[in-house]
Amino acid sequence: MSGGQIDSVMQEDRKFPPTADFQAAAKIGSFAAYESLYEESIRDPEKFWGELARKDLHWFKPFNKVLDWQPPFAKWFVGGTTNVSYNCLDAHLNSWRKNKAAFIWEGEPGEQRTITYAQLHREVCKFANSLKSLGLKPGDVATIYMPMVPELAIAMLACARIGVVHSVVFGGFSAEAIADRNNDAKAKVVITADGGWRRGKLLELKATVDTALAKSPTVQNCVVFQRAKNNVAMKDGRDHWWHDITAKASADCPAEQLDSEHPLFILYTSGSTGKPKGIRHTTAGYNLFVKKTFEWVFDYRDDDIFWCTADCGWVTGHSYIVYGPLSAGATTVMYEGAPNWPEEDRFWDIIERHRVTILYTAPTAIRAFIKWGDHHVDKHDLSSLRLLGTVGEGINPEAWMWYHRKIGGERCPIVDTWWQTETGGIMMSPLPGAIATKPGSCTKPMPGVVPVLLDEQLQPVGPNQGGMLCIAKPWPGMLRGLWGDDDRYVQQYWTKVPGNYLTGDNSRVDNDGYYWIMGRIDDVINVSGHRLSTIEVESALVSHPNVAEAAAVGRPDELKGQSVVVFVTLKSGEANDALKTAMKQHVRKEIGALAVPDDIRFTGSLPKTRSGKIMRRLLRDIAAGKESVQDTSTLEDYSVLAKLRGDEE
Ligand code: ATP
Ligand code: MG
Repeated sequence: MSGGQIDSVMQEDRKFPPTADFQAAAKIGSFAAYESLYEESIRDPEKFWGELARKDLHWFKPFNKVLDWQPPFAKWFVGGTTNVSYNCLDAHLNSWRKNKAAFIWEGEPGEQRTITYAQLHREVCKFANSLKSLGLKPGDVATIYMPMVPELAIAMLACARIGVVHSVVFGGFSAEAIADRNNDAKAKVVITADGGWRRGKLLELKATVDTALAKSPTVQNCVVFQRAKNNVAMKDGRDHWWHDITAKASADCPAEQLDSEHPLFILYTSGSTGKPKGIRHTTAGYNLFVKKTFEWVFDYRDDDIFWCTADCGWVTGHSYIVYGPLSAGATTVMYEGAPNWPEEDRFWDIIERHRVTILYTAPTAIRAFIKWGDHHVDKHDLSSLRLLGTVGEGINPEAWMWYHRKIGGERCPIVDTWWQTETGGIMMSPLPGAIATKPGSCTKPMPGVVPVLLDEQLQPVGPNQGGMLCIAKPWPGMLRGLWGDDDRYVQQYWTKVPGNYLTGDNSRVDNDGYYWIMGRIDDVINVSGHRLSTIEVESALVSHPNVAEAAAVGRPDELKGQSVVVFVTLKSGEANDALKTAMKQHVRKEIGALAVPDDIRFTGSLPKTRSGKIMRRLLRDIAAGKESVQDTSTLEDYSVLAKLRGDEE
């Protein structure tokens, strides 16, 4: 009897313990140490988080209660006042870290800037005072639409410093998307740049903002950072050059003493499964969670050069370029441009020149590197690396193995970090000195995180069966709601499984208690009463030597309920029927007859969100021959859809 669990068909038994050297040097250096930390966090969460909060954050006024939980509404560190920008900057100024590099920035055309904590503090204070001079007050909303320049982080920190709520909109979004977000959040100011660089091309950011502002009645001011020196129109009274308003501003700007639950930012999700949701995060709980998860997961040391390749337009950039690393006093590399500019070895070049020790990137990038070829990697010395990470999607085991061998030189642990915009920070991941890794598994929960897996009848599923991944207990980094929409918050995350946070993902636990994310609940493929996970079918295809990327979806089928359709991009070989037959045989051999695709379609590229995630919901419509009426505002490249539709051979 199927209770709606998902049948796992994948076999993956490889296991990689950390090297003795890595383990010996790690802060959490044994499985027993992880277990005891985890136990402690579960036994008495309020004591656990309360002690960390007192130690790790600065308090203007101490909190008097760790957690106020009125499901599904949480308040953490009740009654306390703190400031995230203070914890990221001022907290280091009386230590030797004052003159440590906070950011090592590289522009796409090749410029470099190194900014110390003391310098960053000064710039943030000046910009915070500039925002004040425009009349911004705590609780007001600022939209930030910028290229990946240090001023983007400065703008975020300046907002945090004075209690202005930021809403960063990825610099690749359209005017329409900016206007929607401005209006949803009632933004008072937009902070942007004249332009930015991407793949050698100038992005006319200010021109896009001008179009957006024509439809954004709440926005009164626009601040423009001069990055690309392209010609822009400046509207009198509304538009201000960054360099003009900061020139007049004082560098003295004490951090506002903000309530623990003061909103820090709004951030819209990637839109993989539908219209983006405006996630609301607050001050103290978020700050503590990203700081601690940064230190735990990346086994952070003071001499590390940490590089997270995300854009600050996504939560990964918020939590692991800006707030996590800076609260921990880390040195972070920030890169403006594309990984294939001027050549496809740009990342390896950056790692070699800056002696990067930790690289945190996305599976979509790793699949592109594999496709571009090993010779780009071979040109560079990557021996500075000691740890690798992934985030954003599941990683196919073969891509994991390539990352392990080719980039990690078989010596660097890989932390596959599962989390969401909603969770604020990493929820499941190996701690690299403590937990042996398995390719494709995010392994174990972070301290304080209590995952549960349930079938459709809300019964717990057994080992190696997939179920809905829920989180049973509140955690400090959790979203506090959707901006201005408590009903949707309750509906989306807390209704289907009462009392639990519904992640929207499926997962299974193996015999070692390791978690394997199995894709989105909505994407499950139902073949003859068996429910298959997208990632398992895709991983079987990606392990075929000719395949670069694969996306699996279900198509209605009269006999079987659904049949499996896969969209495949190749890294080699010819897209012909012989290859299709070979691929079907390969899937049969790897994971069994049930998962063999009825239809394989070759394509030059897959539809992805602007953060690089495969949008299976659009492929589902294409596979079914339906005209899509879904939200495509977060689609990266519209021409992909047209091509896929025309590709009906
Ligand atoms: P939307 O919620 O609008 O559909 P999204 O879910 O893609 O968009 P994000 O918050 O950016 O928005 O992404 C979180 C999701 O990404 C997770 O729910 C999960 O599906 C996927 N994900 C992130 N990291 C991993 C990982 N390490 N392994 C598997 N899946 C991951
Ligand atoms: Mg989501």
